[in-house]
Amino acid sequence: MRRSVDVVVIGDGVAGLSTALGLAATRDVLLLSAGSGSTPWAQGGVAAAYGDDDPLDHAHDTDVAGAGFCDPRNLRALVEEGPQRLAELIALGARFDRDPDGSLSRTLEGGHDRPRVVHAGGDASGAEVHRTLRDALRLSDVRTVTGRAVGLIKSDSGHIVGVLVEDDAGVSQVDSRAVVLATGGIGNAYLASTNPATVRGDGIALALNAGASLVDMEFVQFHPTALFTGNSSGQMPLVTEAVRGEGAVLRDLRGRRIMADVHPRADLAPRDVVARAIEATMRRDGCDHVWLDARSIPEDTIRRRFPTVLASCAQIGVDMRSEQIPVAPAEHFLCGGVRTNRDGATDVPGLYAVGEVAASGVHGANRLASNSLLEGMVFGRRVATALTLDLPPATMSRSSSLTLAEDREPERIRAILTEHAGIRRDGAGLQMAADELETLGDGPLATTARAVIAAAITREDSRGCHWRSDYPQRDERWNQHVVVRLDEEGRPAVRHLHQSARL
Ligand SMILES: Cc1cc2nc3c(=O)[nH]c(=O)nc-3n(C[C@H](O)[C@H](O)[C@H](O)COP(=O)(O)OP(=O)(O)OC[C@H]3O[C@@H](n4cnc5c(N)ncnc54)[C@H](O)[C@@H]3O)c2cc1C
Repeated sequence: MRRSVDVVVIGDGVAGLSTALGLAATRDVLLLSAGSGSTPWAQGGVAAAYGDDDPLDHAHDTDVAGAGFCDPRNLRALVEEGPQRLAELIALGARFDRDPDGSLSRTLEGGHDRPRVVHAGGDASGAEVHRTLRDALRLSDVRTVTGRAVGLIKSDSGHIVGVLVEDDAGVSQVDSRAVVLATGGIGNAYLASTNPATVRGDGIALALNAGASLVDMEFVQFHPTALFTGNSSGQMPLVTEAVRGEGAVLRDLRGRRIMADVHPRADLAPRDVVARAIEATMRRDGCDHVWLDARSIPEDTIRRRFPTVLASCAQIGVDMRSEQIPVAPAEHFLCGGVRTNRDGATDVPGLYAVGEVAASGVHGANRLASNSLLEGMVFGRRVATALTLDLPPATMSRSSSLTLAEDREPERIRAILTEHAGIRRDGAGLQMAADELETLGDGPLATTARAVIAAAITREDSRGCHWRSDYPQRDERWNQHVVVRLDEEGRPAVRHLHQSARL
């Protein structure tokens, strides 16, 4: 059955839900989702500077973590609009943890100069954000559909005018004036990730096929402390950075502190710094994990603040109150993505992107902890505002569908990306990855992997979470953003460099 709505939002994470809710009163909206993504898995919380904290300090910490590569305008929007969005979430019924005096409880995470991360259920913040937004959506007029977007519809005039949806009944078409990609990151393009299997780079491939640009794709963040379960494939349980915020420290297998002399903030250095130090330790010692020692944290704090981590550890037979936790880095977050303007518009009319799939530029070269749920809330609202004020015009021209291909050998693609585009990269390995990917078709994982590799080969520089062992120093000549588009053969290729991540 063919349907027609004003706006299709693809993805039911914090970004898609915030967008759909912001449009609910003014537009006919359909929210399409292939299942829940990373949002309900988020542990640490939402960073927000209010009261005695200053949004400009939050912006400063974000930019330091982002290696000075953040977009200043969008960063300002993030830190200044963030507390309003958080207050609205609370008004919708979100129950964040509170101190005995009733004030919101705020914790410290890596890269923040003060406690500013609010959390819920101890370490179940994403689940509470997701529950609240889903409950609000149920009371709205937004229609929800479960299925996978397998293609976009493009008019001859170059506008995106709909989506192809695959579900149990087959493939159907939804016509719309605008499509918002809120499809999350690319975790499933790597062998091991903290993301669930639904997060696999479809939005990246859909955008590229539609003719949109990507930017900053080389900046893939690895979380330093995924729980090492002995199985290094699939979704890895996370040990939130807030555990280090409460005093846990990283140790090598001989018990020596890893971070003590590496960075002034030691175990609370930005994520890229900690992940690199762990990778170097593991390489030096020839081991597949290191220890996170949380035994100094009082038992009642662990039970109250980290019930999820406590349970994950228990599942592998570790009692984090009395034993060290085995951890190793795992793919976690895409800092770059689909290139947009301040309101989520891409360079293809009718196509928008928001949340982790989008490169709003607020994360620079490395995301600061707990800024991502915030990004979804802030930029979801901005997209909704833009589409409330102005919907792209209806177009009468003919249209054709841009359908995603199937990935031929997904496991091989994952293995290639994991081996060559991990924490430590070099030109020879990246070139080998590019060559190996040549024969692996044009499915979404292959397309996503090629985009990451193309950007990573181009950036002969080390900053944030892009670390080239053959170019280990930051090179100021690379103070430019790498833009990737499809080439004439329909393969992702670097098209130009730009001063700004934003359109
Ligand atoms: C374990 C973990 C812990 C984290 N902790 C924190 C934290 O404490 N604080 C913080 O700020 N951030 C945290 N993050 C990051 C944060 O959770 C994510 O960046 C954020 O939730 C992404 O939101 P999103 O709406 O962009 O995408 P997601 O929540 O990932 O949602 C993507 C949606 O797109 C849908 N989708 C994808 N492709 C298709 C398709 N082809 N068709 C239809 N639907 C599709 C998926 O089904 C899903 O509904 C964490 C992430 C993980 C994995």
